[in-house]
Amino acid sequence: MDISTSSQTNTLAILVINCGSSSVKFSLIQPKSGINLLSGLAECLTTPQASIKIKYNINDSINDNNENQSETSFLSAPFDHQQALNALVSKLKALDLVEKIIAVGHRVVHGGEHYSKPILINDDVKRTINNLAKLAPLHNPANLIGINVCQKAFPKLSQIAIFDTAFHQSMPEKAYLYGIPFELYSKHGIRRYGFHGTSHYFVANQVAQLINKPLEQCNLISAHLGNGCSVTVIKNGKSVDTSLGMTPLEGVMMGTRSGDIDAGIIVHLVEQLSYSIEQIDTLLNKQSGLLGLSTLSNDCRTLEAAMFDDNHSKSAQAKIALTVFCYRIAKSIASFSASLTQLDGLIFTGGIGENSSWVRQQILKQLSLLNFQVCEEKNQATRFGTSGNIATKSSRPCWVIATNEEWVIAQQSAQLLNTIKNNSASN
Ligand code: AMP
Repeated sequence: MDISTSSQTNTLAILVINCGSSSVKFSLIQPKSGINLLSGLAECLTTPQASIKIKYNINDSINDNNENQSETSFLSAPFDHQQALNALVSKLKALDLVEKIIAVGHRVVHGGEHYSKPILINDDVKRTINNLAKLAPLHNPANLIGINVCQKAFPKLSQIAIFDTAFHQSMPEKAYLYGIPFELYSKHGIRRYGFHGTSHYFVANQVAQLINKPLEQCNLISAHLGNGCSVTVIKNGKSVDTSLGMTPLEGVMMGTRSGDIDAGIIVHLVEQLSYSIEQIDTLLNKQSGLLGLSTLSNDCRTLEAAMFDDNHSKSAQAKIALTVFCYRIAKSIASFSASLTQLDGLIFTGGIGENSSWVRQQILKQLSLLNFQVCEEKNQATRFGTSGNIATKSSRPCWVIATNEEWVIAQQSAQLLNTIKNNSASN
């Protein structure tokens, strides 16, 4: 059976599970059309603020104009990953959606050097994901909870892992090695892995279609700017360098993460200011970035509103934070041009990249040497899900593309399932 072409299977869907450190995102997606039958988010897990939202449209035909239905917080807080997932399973059963599910695709954050492609999950794969928890202590254990709950709930369905690090496995040694003793890499795996791979791959693929060029011939720089931020350089369709490192702390400044700092600051914090390792971890991951510099918020929207309100007590501080944020992203984009001899254009994606015309304008203003010129009219018009090129005619192109990691996970899961079925049919 060819999952991607059979009309009989057009209504079938992949259940996509994305377990974060304190949240679970889920969707039931038809892999070919990208139609979402059900989606939702459970967040603030294990805290008194825990909440869960599920939206569904059980009439899956694109032409049926049924209104979406939604349910919010039908579990009493606090609840954890497992309870949220069990609630999802009960909802899928109550809505008679279980028989539409052909497989479960799990976003797994760290695949280390083991996985450069989606993989069918078995006990060995689970062991490897567990061993890699030392590189992603907040995420891989949560991903395993998602896998275990779904295996128990749907024992007959294939479970597939799609790794956030996989797209970056094509990076050359010169991009993934740090300038520290080689043994730390060869014995302990300390190297750049990169993250947001599924998003960078999706937006690059979208641009390849827009410019009518095979992805394998495209040279792009992609900036995923959300609460987490990363810049990736794509050469002939493959990731050749990226700003996030061994952990999702390196690179550009983010919502609450510092991005690059002088590593000597850590020694200074310990020796001169008596910080503990836990305090440094909290400082750099949760109290820095836009939040730390603005002393107001990690949220770009809140900071833009404060910056443009002269009466806001933190107006100047918000402007400083956003200015440093944009400058650091522009510097990262410019530095990545060193990996290319030809550049088809730049891509903005993620909550900030897709919606903040101010941030995009500031970044592009810094990049005039690379021949990026923003068209103000197009920049203002390309927000809230609208995609397109926001550059002037004489500029190098600059696309805004709404990312859709869930759809990539659904498509790649369906493709793997197809390959497995075709292989077993020919054996
Ligand atoms: P994400 O992590 O991709 O969901 O992105 C979250 C970030 O996108 C937050 O900093 C939001 O403030 C930001 N964001 C979302 N919508 C807008 C908007 N209209 N203008 C500016 N920033 C936005």
